[in-house]
Amino acid sequence: MDIMKFNMTNQVNKLLKVIIIVVSTVILAALTYNYFHNSLQNEARLDFNNRARLIKTYLNLLGSHVNSFKRDIEYSYHLESNNSAIHPGLQQLKNFDKNHYILSNDSENNLQVTLSGIGTADKALQLHGKEINTILKFSSRFNSIAASLPEITWVYYTSINKFLFVAPTINPDEYLFDEPDYQRNFWQEAQPENNPEHKQIITKLYNDAAGQGLMVTISSPVLLDNRFMGIVSLDLGLDFLRSLLISDLNSPLGESILVDESSFLVGKVEDFTIGTQIEVPDLADNTQGFIHADDKHWLITELVDGELWLVHVFENNKIIMASVIKSIPVWTILFITLALAFVLIKLQEAHKQVVELSRIDPLTGLLNRRGLYESIKQPVSFSKRHHNSWSVVIMDIDYFKKVNDTYGHNIGDEVIQEVGRLMNDIIRNSDIAARWGGEEFLLFLPDTNAQMACHIADKLLEAVSTQQITNNKLNITLSSGCAEAKADEPFDEVLKRADIKLYEAKEKGRNQNQR
Ligand code: GH3
Ligand code: MG
Ligand code: MG
Repeated sequence: MDIMKFNMTNQVNKLLKVIIIVVSTVILAALTYNYFHNSLQNEARLDFNNRARLIKTYLNLLGSHVNSFKRDIEYSYHLESNNSAIHPGLQQLKNFDKNHYILSNDSENNLQVTLSGIGTADKALQLHGKEINTILKFSSRFNSIAASLPEITWVYYTSINKFLFVAPTINPDEYLFDEPDYQRNFWQEAQPENNPEHKQIITKLYNDAAGQGLMVTISSPVLLDNRFMGIVSLDLGLDFLRSLLISDLNSPLGESILVDESSFLVGKVEDFTIGTQIEVPDLADNTQGFIHADDKHWLITELVDGELWLVHVFENNKIIMASVIKSIPVWTILFITLALAFVLIKLQEAHKQVVELSRIDPLTGLLNRRGLYESIKQPVSFSKRHHNSWSVVIMDIDYFKKVNDTYGHNIGDEVIQEVGRLMNDIIRNSDIAARWGGEEFLLFLPDTNAQMACHIADKLLEAVSTQQITNNKLNITLSSGCAEAKADEPFDEVLKRADIKLYEAKEKGRNQNQR
């Protein structure tokens, strides 16, 4: 085989292998990234849906507490008559200053609630005794809700008759009910003028009048004998709202926030100022999937009808970064595998080269003796099977010792190379040429009888003898012997007969072929 051709196919094979490995590594790396990108998005969506469900359930629960207070107060008032029990607190109403009366918690009544109103105690008892008596009977229930649910800051009933009943207790020196309280969000939003259907409402975020920080209020109007009489409310502190947004499930991507119907911020893990408006793509969009806008991903769901939304938002590059970080271990393994594959290719290649070199004569590029034996195995057995003829020609450079002696070993080498080249040019593709020894060459000729073999040998002898070889323009001649294989004759036997013929050619004066 031609060593150049061998090298080229080897290079192409190598390049193909490298391309396949690199391309499949890149594809695997991309698939890895894609997998993590999708799974992060799915995780975020699952977290978000779980959190939304949790908050919804909890707010529903609180809302139903408020509604049950509303119904129970309405019902109790309805049943109230002259024979009804008088709550002991009723007798303990007393004037606090010249404009206010109170019923505050003390060691005697241990009510754990506070009632404060505008006016005098006598007047209040006289005009609104029935309402006050009804509401006082809710002391322990208000108190137990406030005490058992720490996230609830206040539970209270505000009457249009200018009093407030609240749990837990408030020191009257710090806070008393007053006219401006009717300007507060819960009152404004829940009173019939703005809420003709007497629905439950959730207020905007506001700062507590009694100094308990930011909160929202869940309120239901109370109708006594079908007249609007007051509002029962429950305040949720911002800390509680925050705690709904942080959870063990919290996805590392972006943040969850609560917004109201005008996209004002209601809750956020970090600090923020009241009245911050968020640019949410579309609150009405309840697709349950991601909304992509301005390089951000949004998840939006309505928590309370027309009142409160949970929004999760993260920046596109955050999810890209997170996916990259998650992919890195897999990419590292892929990279190591890639490096190992390259090392393996190199080793394979080196091994192949060693094997090839062990079959090839480095001076001429022709097969060496070992290479020839390997290469003829197949054609010899093929020829035997098909009863085809094949022949062997063995050639030797004449008086080569003289060339070495006269021109030196290097020129001698050049002569050997040149003869090898001429041989390679003249033989057919199916023929196999080898350097057999020092200045001896061998031709294996499949599908060739003795006559054709001699013809090829003659051609070669003539080509060599008519060429001026090397820069020294040497006239070189060859002697050769050829033999055609007999049926089932082993190669070595044929070779032996050809060698005898070569000896004959030398004997007969050289520069000739014998058969
Ligand atoms: P003859 O016509 O009888 O073949 O004469 P000859 O001089 O060629 O005789 P012989 O075959 O005995 O000599 C071969 C010489 O070839 C001996 C050796 O020094 C030389 N030789 C063998 N291998 C190499 C080689 O690789 N390079 C060079 N330059 N010379 C070699
Ligand atoms: Mg010789
Ligand atoms: Mg010789």
